[in-house]
Amino acid sequence: MTLLTFRFAPSPNGELHLGHAYSALLNQRLANTSGGRLLLRVEDIDTTRCTPEFEEGMLADLKWLGVGWEEPVRRQSEHFAEYEAALERLIREELVYPAFMSRGEIRAFITDTERRGRAWPRDPDGIPLYPPSDKALPIKERKRRIAENAPFAWRLDVGAAMARAGKNLSWAEFTDETLSATRSVEARPQDWGDVVVARRDIPTSYHLAVVVDDALQGVSHVVRGQDLFSATGVQRLLQEILGLPRPAYFHHRLVLGPDGRKLSKSLRDTGLAALRDAGASPDDVRRVVGL
Ligand code: GLU
Repeated sequence: MTLLTFRFAPSPNGELHLGHAYSALLNQRLANTSGGRLLLRVEDIDTTRCTPEFEEGMLADLKWLGVGWEEPVRRQSEHFAEYEAALERLIREELVYPAFMSRGEIRAFITDTERRGRAWPRDPDGIPLYPPSDKALPIKERKRRIAENAPFAWRLDVGAAMARAGKNLSWAEFTDETLSATRSVEARPQDWGDVVVARRDIPTSYHLAVVVDDALQGVSHVVRGQDLFSATGVQRLLQEILGLPRPAYFHHRLVLGPDGRKLSKSLRDTGLAALRDAGASPDDVRRVVGL
């Protein structure tokens, strides 16, 4: 039997908080009880917001908590060539297109459409979907703009990609943290519209890097927060059109702050470093997150 492989994949753009602690400890417990592996992946493609100092702090917090992982750590910023290869394939297969509209232009398009009485669709995070105009640009015009150095991002043509993937795109979602049973969830990547797959200066995006890495690292079980549940639809579609294996998923509960709100990296009082400085022990953290 092949070993189950779990991963914890934080972004070093702030300090880890109790929610990260729960996720890392749950992954560790599942890897231990199944005799599987736990990998650590540093998701640092956003080279402006992610810093070596945050990464160092994150690793120190995890060690303090008692989380152990298999070396080496995979750092996404060291693997741009692998994401670029996947992107090249999507470009070749015409499943992505260069999208040139600036934020201001998108806003103007939507205001204009809505002024004429038609509500513009939003994604599950409430962000308006990307307008369709760039998808229809003639190849010559695309080439001209790129040659003129116009800023653009590569966006997934979600309609074309879904047609390529075929019907019944779904994933296996575990029903609870014992990982004993799964249910099938319909993937709805169309709810996100034409998502960004890569930027002009960074040949990847969160979604592309995650699916490439989960495949390259042989991740069999993706255990992460409920906040990424519907993003899984986009990732399933990318796996399908890139011919990548499909992991099983468990989207765990989120640890909420005292006000019932989702924790964020800017909320210092639930940060692990701050809790440690205030005298909390790793066992206190386990108790608070319920593990
Ligand atoms: N890097 C993402 C985050 O910090 C998690 C990605 C994932 O687990 O798929 O929220």
